[in-house]
Amino acid sequence: MAPGPVETTEKQETETVAPKKLPKGVVLGPDGKPCRSCTDVSSWFAMSKSSGSTSKPAKPPRDCPPDVSALGRSSWTLLHSITATYPVQPTPDLQSETASFLRTFGKLYPCWVCAEDFQTWMTQNTPRVSSRSEFGQWMCEAHNAVNVKLGKKEFDCAKWEERWRTGWKDGRCDP
Ligand SMILES: Cc1cc2nc3c(=O)[nH]c(=O)nc-3n(C[C@H](O)[C@H](O)[C@H](O)COP(=O)(O)OP(=O)(O)OC[C@H]3O[C@@H](n4cnc5c(N)ncnc54)[C@H](O)[C@@H]3O)c2cc1C
Repeated sequence: MAPGPVETTEKQETETVAPKKLPKGVVLGPDGKPCRSCTDVSSWFAMSKSSGSTSKPAKPPRDCPPDVSALGRSSWTLLHSITATYPVQPTPDLQSETASFLRTFGKLYPCWVCAEDFQTWMTQNTPRVSSRSEFGQWMCEAHNAVNVKLGKKEFDCAKWEERWRTGWKDGRCDP
């Protein structure tokens, strides 16, 4: 699956009920309609401009459904926080439940293009859940794979615990 937002093709547009001219970056869902959780908010709101509506604000209020970025930030916060509170020595049962959770997460992730790529990445990078340190490192690598796909800077995985568990060594996260 192509990285990042997917442009609609002429074929897709003629086969679906989506608006005729979709702005660049709007991703269609499996139902053929624009997928909000797969699309960046700027592209999403560009749809109202292309349909001639001028009454919409440039950005939605905070209590609207998430776009692909807001969903991603919240999801990474949850995933890294899970690794941060994962036992140093998990039981075999917990390791197996964690691997199962990740498979299900990969299937249910609301941005379907993201989900497909994440599932593919996991087939080549089996979740390492034998300890907190392994799991945290693996999650950091998973996040970096998406960073690379989106053309973002890679995060230094030696620092995942400072970012998500202990707070930075300079004390700026301490009370
Ligand atoms: C499973 C998954 C797949 C995704 N796939 C896509 C996709 O295909 N297309 C798309 O447009 N978006 C995708 N996203 C969303 C994308 O990863 C970002 O969340 C989104 O672009 C917002 O990015 P951001 O720059 O605000 O920070 P984020 O990437 O959300 O990062 C949040 C914070 O995490 C920290 N961080 C960054 N990298 C790491 C790392 N490697 N390890 C530990 N901490 C780190 C930084 O402090 C950063 O500020 C996906 C999200 C998830 C959870």
